Amino acid sequence: MTRSVLVTGGNRGIGLAIARELAAAGDAVAVTCRSDQAPDGLFGVKCDVTKTQDVDNAFAKVEAEQGPVEVLVSNAGITRDKLLPMMREEDFEAVLDTNLTGAYRVAKRAARNMIRARAGRIIFVSSVVAFTGQSGQANYAASKSGLVGLARSLARELSPRNITVNVVAPGFVDTDMTAGLSDQIKAAARDRIPLGRTASPEEVAGVVRFLAGPDAGYVTGTVIPVDGGLAMGL
Ligand code: NDP
Repeated sequence: MTRSVLVTGGNRGIGLAIARELAAAGDAVAVTCRSDQAPDGLFGVKCDVTKTQDVDNAFAKVEAEQGPVEVLVSNAGITRDKLLPMMREEDFEAVLDTNLTGAYRVAKRAARNMIRARAGRIIFVSSVVAFTGQSGQANYAASKSGLVGLARSLARELSPRNITVNVVAPGFVDTDMTAGLSDQIKAAARDRIPLGRTASPEEVAGVVRFLAGPDAGYVTGTVIPVDGGLAMGL
């Protein structure tokens, strides 16, 4: 059955891998982009998740193109890493606004139709640092652990309407977000990962496909780490 899927930040990185994975599984997949450049073969809607009006317009376009969103993957995210003394309030707020409030905005808009339909899947892309913390990432880690509370609260609210809400928590994934890190930091990260390597975006996408698919109908309010064992035992 073809479902209407929306992936925020689906124009590149992990979001693009998720969008391609779900499209390959037969879904109609739309992605948000901040530029006019949608990836080949996917329906792109211009949207900055920090702007409520953008979110509303994007959903309206997706609804017109492929029907109300049945599967939402809230993936858009940014980092603004700085140690606390150097972290300006605007660095903190920008990361929270995109990663956490942005997720609230899209979930709220998606839930409107899902509640009516009495069905839906919402998946938030968090991070291993939600649980471990990370020096220099107080803003990012706060936003990513906030997603867990958001997801679990929504899972409770929306379960009576047959809507599941879950989180994936990737570890170190090879995308633009991590490309700028020094070789030294990358090597140190790899040393701490039990599986001894970083992840491809496709490895995260496979877990999202499971959460979006028929085998996960009884899975809600959970966090699935996709981190090579990095947060194991914490
Ligand atoms: P990238 O930097 O490669 O991509 C980020 C995506 O988010 C882009 O599509 C970007 O759009 C979009 N985005 C950022 N801000 C906004 C905004 N305000 N409105 C709409 N879209 C926005 O990152 P990744 O693919 O690596 O990360 C995807 C998600 O996975 C993020 O939430 C990240 O925190 C999380 N994650 C990543 C890990 C990693 O190691 N890479 C590890 C754990 C979690 P644009 O192209 O317009 O900039």
